[in-house]
Amino acid sequence: MNQRVSAEQAGTGGDGGIARRILESPTSATVRIADLASTLRRQGVKVVDFSAGRASEHTPEYICRVASEALLGGDTHQTMAQGTPEYRAACARKLLRENGLEADPETEIVATFGCKNGLTLALLAIMNPGDELILEDPGFVSYAPTIRFLGGVPVTVPLEPELGHRWREERLRAAVTPRTKAILFCSPHNPTGTVHTPEELDMIGRVASDHGLYVISDEIYERVTWGGRSHTCIATRPGMRERTITLMGLTKTASMGGWRIGFAFAPPPVIEAMVMGQQHLTTCVGSFTQAGAAVAFGEPPPPALTEMWKEWEERCAFMTSALDALPGVSCAMPEGGFYAWADITGTGESSEALAERLLKDHHIAVVPGSAFGDQGEGYLRITCVKSWEDLKEGVKRLKEALG
Ligand code: GLU
Repeated sequence: MNQRVSAEQAGTGGDGGIARRILESPTSATVRIADLASTLRRQGVKVVDFSAGRASEHTPEYICRVASEALLGGDTHQTMAQGTPEYRAACARKLLRENGLEADPETEIVATFGCKNGLTLALLAIMNPGDELILEDPGFVSYAPTIRFLGGVPVTVPLEPELGHRWREERLRAAVTPRTKAILFCSPHNPTGTVHTPEELDMIGRVASDHGLYVISDEIYERVTWGGRSHTCIATRPGMRERTITLMGLTKTASMGGWRIGFAFAPPPVIEAMVMGQQHLTTCVGSFTQAGAAVAFGEPPPPALTEMWKEWEERCAFMTSALDALPGVSCAMPEGGFYAWADITGTGESSEALAERLLKDHHIAVVPGSAFGDQGEGYLRITCVKSWEDLKEGVKRLKEALG
């Protein structure tokens, strides 16, 4: 399933003129499988799509209304490359209210097209060609390709399932070399759902501080933690603010994936460098999307959001216990985020073979764990924040497939 552009597809004459950075990269399994599911749906196939991390809810109306009014009111022009002052001020209010971080919207925040663009800008800002970035295995499918696209070297350190998919300090330290520039991680974690405690963040912080490294902290799922857990920003930990680039967005928790909107919070010189990258790459983030996002971040989350998050916890609990009851499958409730990370080793099938069989024969789209790294083999990632109807239909089909 891990297709990519082949030399033949690319055209005649060997590589067809396509750059090696593309030819040598895997496709994004999350996006590709979601696109495939959407194509099949358009063809009339009733696919239950548990692939990409996209909730079934639309963006709440109060957010859409503000963006529509901005659009109709003439907010149709490019904004400052750093983002509108209003949006940045809203991000700063959010950081203070929800994360205990006092941020200067003038110098410490840049608007981004979701966290993927935030990561690209962060890497552009701090990573020289040949620099090494330490990342988690399993980890989000786009981290390593993005690092390679920009000439960096991803160095993966396995998460330990017996530690609840966390790093062991010795192994993290052993991965540091004189070329290491930063540690990149995600909490709540995609795909395993691990939420780091302050003590665990301090362990990562110690390694970063001891070696003078940056930390890039992908916090896209930070508003959804379960079982009474809460999210801690590593930037709030002692000595970490000056070396951390925090990435946040509204894609997941406000169901605003199509808006492509987020922000980065980092020390002023890093933000300045990221803004320069944004000037050249895209000019700026969409104008009216920033207006809507300013409300989504700037105001305390109303019931339209908090009720949705509560409901997501129920759906995660339903889905993970249904998966856990399947023969050959074991699956725990995630600590945060909205994926079930199902251990399928008992089925005897590889993650790719099973994912392919589920899609082909049962019209269930999931992401094979192998797409997230070597350590992801033996797992499937299943998005739990789908409609109850889809969840129930999906479970029925999974029982047929594995029963
Ligand atoms: N980040 C989400 C995921 O892991 C959405 C797909 C993507 O952007 O890769 O499924």
